Amino acid sequence: MSRPAQPRTLVARDDGLTPVAPPARPLWQRLLADAISRPAELLAALDLDPALPALDAERLRDFPIRVPRGFVARMRPGDAADPLFLQVWPSVREADVVPGYSTDAVGDLDKLKGGGLIHKYAGRALAISTGACAINCRYCFRRHFPYGDALASRGHWRATLEQLDADPSIEEVILSGGDPLALTDDKLAELVAALDTKPWIRRLRLHTRVPVVLPERVDERLLGWLTATRLQKVVVLHINHENEIDADVAAACAKLRAAGATLLNQAVLLRGVNDSADAQARLSERCFAAGVLPYYLFVLDRVAGAAHFDVSEAQATALMQALAARLPGFLVPRLVREIAGQPSKTPLPW
Ligand SMILES: *Cc1c(COP(=O)(O)O)cnc(C)c1O
Ligand code: SF4
Repeated sequence: MSRPAQPRTLVARDDGLTPVAPPARPLWQRLLADAISRPAELLAALDLDPALPALDAERLRDFPIRVPRGFVARMRPGDAADPLFLQVWPSVREADVVPGYSTDAVGDLDKLKGGGLIHKYAGRALAISTGACAINCRYCFRRHFPYGDALASRGHWRATLEQLDADPSIEEVILSGGDPLALTDDKLAELVAALDTKPWIRRLRLHTRVPVVLPERVDERLLGWLTATRLQKVVVLHINHENEIDADVAAACAKLRAAGATLLNQAVLLRGVNDSADAQARLSERCFAAGVLPYYLFVLDRVAGAAHFDVSEAQATALMQALAARLPGFLVPRLVREIAGQPSKTPLPW
């Protein structure tokens, strides 16, 4: 009688005799390593004119192209005005020098404490956990941030945890970056386990774009530590256009919710990308369909290299009036600006 074929599962043995396969790198890390990193590659993938002018190579070295292929797949081929493409394409206009646009647009450098913690607002502190992101957004206000000097994840989070011990008024820890979900799950689980032991800490917040640009990141390992923590969890996503949400992103959102996280969205108002009431209404609707509530709509931080994305405040307030006239209140985000020295984001009246 012939035996059925052995299943090809690798089982780790510790008898010292059986060779053990090294643990496979998670899929998301392989996809991240495979992200598009050269302008020519992006143009070719989208069937765009290879002569489309791009930022010069020297400037591009400081803030390279980076975009996962799954995100590129959501762009319209042949359309240089695609709203997702515009967010990652290094336009020659990044070289424009525009008065009022600086390299520390939101005054974070003043507030940075040891341990990568920025404690600007009451009750909550934001940890610059890593400088890495899964995507490089050309309008990013942290594009000039000197990450090398101040990363919370250094040395098993020791300095961050010491900061938290020294200030029990901090009840909510916000992991930001860069993007905290660019860190490994071991690293994140280590922090969350330590936070779990500090009874005055109630909430864990993640500010992340990774579930949107690389939904494969929301895997069993991530869901493991996220589900296990006693902390209340809030995941603030960053989605600027409805086309960013496909079935995989919606499925990742559903998993985060099943793990007990409240999902919110913050977007940036970007010229040519989402600067119409129609685009914003569709974004809110698509977010809500995926279980994500609109939270903030930021006007652009005045960061050097991003001036061509700016939308005037007059246009922004007109847009908000039109948006509020067509959506239920809970789908209307708060229009805000980040102003250095203020005790919260500053709402812009409309
Ligand atoms: C934006 C931000 C927060 C969070 O503000 P919320 O209004 O609670 O969303 C916290 N700390 C810093 C330093 C921030 O920039
Ligand atoms: S994901 Fe966020 S932090 Fe990273 S480049 Fe984009 S906007 Fe900046």
